[in-house]
Parts: sequence; structure tokens; C-alpha cells
Amino acid sequence: MRNCLKTSVLILLGIFVAACSGQVMAEGRFHISPNEKNIIVTAPANKSTSSFNRTYAAKELADYLKLITGLEIPIVTEIGEDKIASGGVIFVGPSKYTDALNLGNSKYEFGAGGFLIKTIGRNLALLGDDSEDGSKIGEREFGETGTYYAVATFLENFCGVRWLWPGELGTVIPRKKEISLPVTDYRSHPAYLCRNNRPPLETATQKPDGSWIAFKGEHFREWSVFQRQHRMGVSINMPVGHYGEAYLKANEFEAHPEYFSMIEGKRKPWWRKGGGSVGQVCNSNADVVNLFVRRILEKAENSKGTMPTFSLTSNDGGFFCMCPECKKMDGNIKPWPEDATGGRIPGKCYNEKSGWASSLSNRIWKFNNQVAQGVARENLSVMLAGLAYAMYVEPPEEVKKIEDNIIVGICEYKLAVGSPGEYRKGKDIFLEWAKKARNLGIRGYYYSVGGSRPHRIAETFRFLYNVGCRFHIAEASQTYGFNWIEYVINKKAQWDPFLDVDAVVDDYFNAAYGPGAETMKKYLELQEKISMQYNVMNSYHTPDTLPENWTADVRKKLREYLDEAIKKTAGTECEKRVRFSEPAWEYLDSYCEFVLSLSRLKAMGISVPQGIKTTKPVVASQKEITDEISNAYAQWKRYKGIIEKCKSEKSWSIPERIYDKGTTEAFGKTVENLYAVVSANAMILPATWSFKIDPAEKGISEGWFKLDFNDKDWDKIRVDTFWENQGYGKEKFPENGSEGYNGKGWYRLSIDIPQERKDEKVFWELGAVDESGTAWVNGQKVWSFNFNPKEDPGAWEKPKRFEITDAVKFAEKNTIAVQVEDKGGMGGIWKPCFILFEKKK
Ligand SMILES: [Zn+2]
Repeated sequence: MRNCLKTSVLILLGIFVAACSGQVMAEGRFHISPNEKNIIVTAPANKSTSSFNRTYAAKELADYLKLITGLEIPIVTEIGEDKIASGGVIFVGPSKYTDALNLGNSKYEFGAGGFLIKTIGRNLALLGDDSEDGSKIGEREFGETGTYYAVATFLENFCGVRWLWPGELGTVIPRKKEISLPVTDYRSHPAYLCRNNRPPLETATQKPDGSWIAFKGEHFREWSVFQRQHRMGVSINMPVGHYGEAYLKANEFEAHPEYFSMIEGKRKPWWRKGGGSVGQVCNSNADVVNLFVRRILEKAENSKGTMPTFSLTSNDGGFFCMCPECKKMDGNIKPWPEDATGGRIPGKCYNEKSGWASSLSNRIWKFNNQVAQGVARENLSVMLAGLAYAMYVEPPEEVKKIEDNIIVGICEYKLAVGSPGEYRKGKDIFLEWAKKARNLGIRGYYYSVGGSRPHRIAETFRFLYNVGCRFHIAEASQTYGFNWIEYVINKKAQWDPFLDVDAVVDDYFNAAYGPGAETMKKYLELQEKISMQYNVMNSYHTPDTLPENWTADVRKKLREYLDEAIKKTAGTECEKRVRFSEPAWEYLDSYCEFVLSLSRLKAMGISVPQGIKTTKPVVASQKEITDEISNAYAQWKRYKGIIEKCKSEKSWSIPERIYDKGTTEAFGKTVENLYAVVSANAMILPATWSFKIDPAEKGISEGWFKLDFNDKDWDKIRVDTFWENQGYGKEKFPENGSEGYNGKGWYRLSIDIPQERKDEKVFWELGAVDESGTAWVNGQKVWSFNFNPKEDPGAWEKPKRFEITDAVKFAEKNTIAVQVEDKGGMGGIWKPCFILFEKKK
């Protein structure tokens, strides 16, 4: 009886399941499976842009489906009615078959950049707006490839593919025998009409040897494909270049000097610098406006079909016209100072609010409006774009409305990477512009260091969308291994600014790190918290900002998370992805340790290049200094090593820029030099010595130079700067005007010379003595120098080296003493001092 019941339940259940699937089959559910004999149908290739897009999309789809299911799905251009009736067909891109179904074949049906994923019975259609030029995948700018977006979205949302970062390791491909779709009619189009993130500056655009490859090459192609997978594209471009000689040529100066800017009463021709033209037009000259209009219209006429947006951005640099009419255009708001010389941007125009000199907004936007009006009178479909940049970043107070055929591209870094205070300022500029301009764009900057800020990025794109911004181009981005979640959010938010950022983050982390996802999320959260504290735009902070925010404790915690995640993912593909973040951590950690070491060396009296914060001086022994130099050198080697490794592996983990490259290189050079001194048989002496002034000149008679002289009650002083800077200045010695103490002063220091040096010659080097001096070692006079400005006026800043072999005691305390005489100006020993050794011949 019990058995019977069980059997009938199973039978009932079986019937129910069969009925269900039968019903679904009857409704025409789409499958990809071996039984289905799937086939991809696309329109025949021809020379058109849309043909390229379709062919590319169909091939990508077939390649990915093979990786997922192992099935070879053929791509055809013709197909019989019977196959369509039996199902399993994937239509990629508009074709005669999709036209017959009225699925749409242009941006008028899909929306600009839009696409459709639709099941039709047991078949599937993936198609979209391919109307713009997509044939340039792998190049710098591109159009919309809606059919490809449909394919990418299908692979992502329905098949589980994830693109975490460019290249193989960043691509997650699930393995399945079969893919089934519910009845689907999914349509989408992008929120932003221009979605373009330029590649990470140095990784993708520099060869390993450092030469510039400017938006070409295989590495850049990987980036470009990644862009496309995340549905980046351009319906209406917002060019971000200066107009240069596009409408007025430098060589037209002779015929029309009045078209060019007037500087100090004279018209100034343009010249070339770094591949671009330098110089400006006379903005108030109506003939210049007309010339611009005419030449823009000519270019539009010649561009046939693909209508570019034309740049209205003045040339870079200063030298704006200072003729009376142009100055009048500037209005009374922020007057152009009369004493501005040479046409450079005068410091007086610097604006506290924006951080830029904004006096030129009125003239630039009056001029741009006039050009735009002239163009619109002839051709309403021509779009123009002007950057709101530098001296004209703020909205012009005397222009009520910017013409509708202008895109205002606001150059703004504060939104994405600014501190909370800077973020508000960045928003204010957009809110002000939104009152005047209909077409707003952002020229974003993502030169950042340290952590990811996915929530800030999403919030930024949502804010911008809400104020009407529809155009985005990032000047450059940076990859610090871990920051790819930021890129992905960045790209997705340009398509949909109202995305659920937490859901995207969760999804990304699960796909990337599997069993390590929770740990890596903690890693992200800590990074995000720290990087939200300060202005991460790397050229807007000092090197010290990094270790101040990324403290040793924070870095240690981050390292612990990485180690924990490595443990949890051991032996899997996920472990490789966790390890992909390791160089970025190493990079940050070594840089912070390097900077901290430099700042300790500075405190010890070793001179380091500008940029390292001054900390409280410390008294350090010779050994402590040597050890610190070795440490700084080790951190520097570690830092350089990571960069070299990533470069040689062409890794997408990090580029070579954490702070200003020149400054960083200068730090490195300093440490290399110090290390060379330390390792080449030398000792750097401590910076802090004992000191006593000797106005009565009794030092010699009292034996202040002697080995056993008691200097316990003497002052402490540093030998890396003048005594006037250390309590012996004009405050205490006003009788010498601004010169401070003039006269004799004594320095004493106790040092060890190691036993193993006993067979070598010993030299003492005083970094610089201002002005004359005498030196003793263990009471024995070893050197004397009398400053004679007629003989050598620069002697006060030159090192003084002399042999002390005979006076030195090895493996014992040595007392070194220097009497310095300063007759005027600054005085004392003021540069680091060394003991050097040389093998006896
Ligand atoms: Zn002028």
C-alpha cells in the first residue's frame, strides 16, 4: 500500500513535470544545447559600418558560447523556413529575417546606442543600433555598436560571463551544458550619449621600454575590447581637444594679423610647441567669428554621414587677446588686470572658489555663442563642443544662455576623486552651468592613488545625470590592480546611473573571488573608507598624504585580508585574481614606507628633495642613519621592482605613476646616491652635535677641542643648517641687524670608528663650512681653512675633505671638534658630514 502510494505520487509528479515542460516547449522556449542544433544568422558582410558591427558581434557570440558550452555554433547569412520553425536560431543584428518580424534596424527603433534581446518562439534575436561607426574597435574613439551591446548583455546577464578587467584572467566564463531563456523582451539604451574612458595612462600607452605608443597596439586593443564589453560607446561625440589650426591657420597671420591676439599692443603670430599650436584668436573680431562658422560648415559638409562634433575649445596656455574690444568682452565682473604682461594668465585672476583664474569665461562663451549661432543659421544638425576649462571653467556671468548646439564639457576632477569638501565644490560648478547650458558633459580625471571609491563614482554619475549631463570622457584612468571594480561601476553607471551599486559590487566579488569574496569585500570597504578621507587626485596632494592616510595599521590590515583571501581560494582561479591585487598593495606599501623613511632621514639631518614634509629633528647615531638609508634604499628597490615586474608581464595591475613621476624619481636618485656613499666605504655622521658660541675667544686656551673636555652643558645643534636658524639668529643677536650671531662657534661630536677599518686611510668631509674653520680629532689639529672671497667666493658652500688617519683611534671613542668663524651673513656647518675610507695602496 505504502509502496503503491509512493509510486503514484511519482507518476503524478512525472506527469506534472512533463506537462509543464511540454507547455513551455509549446510556448517556444529558447535553448542552447547539443539537441537544439543552434545556428547564428547575421546579414551578409558588406562595406558598411553596421555590417562590421554585426560580423564582430556574431563572431564574439560564437566564440564565447563555445567556451561556455563547448558547442561549435555556425554563423550563416541564409537560413531556411524549416530551421526557423524548428527553433534554436540566434539572429545577430538586423537582417531581412528580423526586418520581416519588424524588430527594428536603426537608432529610431532602439534609441541611440540601444538594443533588444528578444525571444521569438524558440529563437532569439540580439540586435541594436549600429548606425554609428563601430569599425574602429581598437582605436581611440568609436561609435555605437548596439548589436554587440545586445550580445555582451546576453552573455553577461543570461550566460553568467563577467568581464572584471581586460585580458584573460579578468574574464570569468562559466561552463554549462545548456543555456535556457525564459520568454524575454529586454530593451535598453544608454543614459549617456558619450561614454568614453580613455585607457590607463601608462600601462596601455607605453611600451616596456617606456616609449609612447599613443592609443595603439595590442594592449590598447585589450582595453578597447573591454570598453566595448561594458557597452562604452559614442552616439554624439564630445571632443576634448583644442581647436588648434582647424579653423584658422598659423600661416594666415601675414594676410590677417587682426585675426590673432594682441599682446602688449602688437598682434602675435602663433608658434608650435609639443605638436600643438600656441596662441589665440582675437575673440572680438566679427570676421574671426564668420571664418570659424564658414570653416566648420565646410568640414560638416565634407564629413558625409558620420557627423563629428566640432571643437570650440581655445588653444591651451595663455596669450589671450588684450585688444580693447576683447577686454570689453570680459566685462566688469573679474577685470583683466592692466599690468598683466606678455599675455600670460596673471596670478591676480586666480579664483578661490574654483581654484582657477576665471576672468575669461565671459569672453570665451560670448565668442562660442556667436559661432554657434552662425552655424545653426545654416545647419541645425551640426554639434559643437567647448570645454569649460582653466580660465573659463566657471559659468560666464554675462551670458544668460549657452546655445543649444554647444556641448559644454566641464573639466572636473573633484567629483570622482575629491575629498568630501572638494566634491561639493565640484557639484556647485555643475549646478551653476546647468542653469545656462542645455548640453552638459564632464571631462573626468581619474589620476588617483590608493583605493577604490565605487559608491562615489556611482553617486557622481547619478548626480550628473540629474543635472542633465549626458556626455563623459575621462582624460585617463589608472589601474592599481584592485581598482577595476571602480572602472566597472564607472562604465555601468554611464549606461544606467540608477544602478544598485551594492548589488553590482556583490556580483563582481562573487564572480571574481568565489570563496574569498567576503574577505575581499572587507578589503574593498577599508580601501574605500580611507580613500574617501582625502583628495586622491595625485597631483593635488603631497607624497606625505599617502602614509598619513594609508597608515601602517591600515596597510597591515589590508595585507591580512589579502592573505586570508589567498588562503580561502588556494589552488583556484580565484586565487590568481586575489593575487592580481597583490602588486597594487605592494606598490602602495613600498611607496608609503619609502616616503616615511625619507622623512625620518630628513629629521636626522640628511637633505632630501623638496616634497617631503619637515618633521621634528631627531638625534640619531651614525648607525641609525646608515640603517635608515639602507631601509629607504630597500623600499625604493621594492617599489621599482614591482613596476618593472608588472611592465614586463604587461599586467593590468599597475601603471608607473603613484605620485608625480619626476618628484618620485628625484627621491629615488637621492636615496641611490646616499646608499652609494654608505656602501662605498663611508659613514654619514649624525646631524646633531654639541655646540657653544665663543664670543670671548677662549675656546683654544680652555682646550674645547680636547678629547676629554666636558661639553655636557653645551647646546645641541644640527650641522645640516646654519646656526642662525637654530637659536643664534637676529632675535637673540639683534646688534648685527639681520645677520644673527657673528664670531666663533664650536662643534663637538663623539664617534666610533670600527676596528675593521684599521688598515684603511680615513678622511673627514665637512659638507660645508660658512666661513672659516679649524678641525681637531682627539685633540690633534687636522685641518684649517681661512675663507678668502677674492680667492674663492663660493668656498662657503663647498665640501671640505681632509685625511685624519693618524689622529683616529679604532674601536674606541673619538672626539671630533670644529671651530667655525662667521664674519657676516649666515654661519656654521650647514650640510651633512661624512667619514670616508680608502684602501691603502
Ligand atoms: Zn581682440
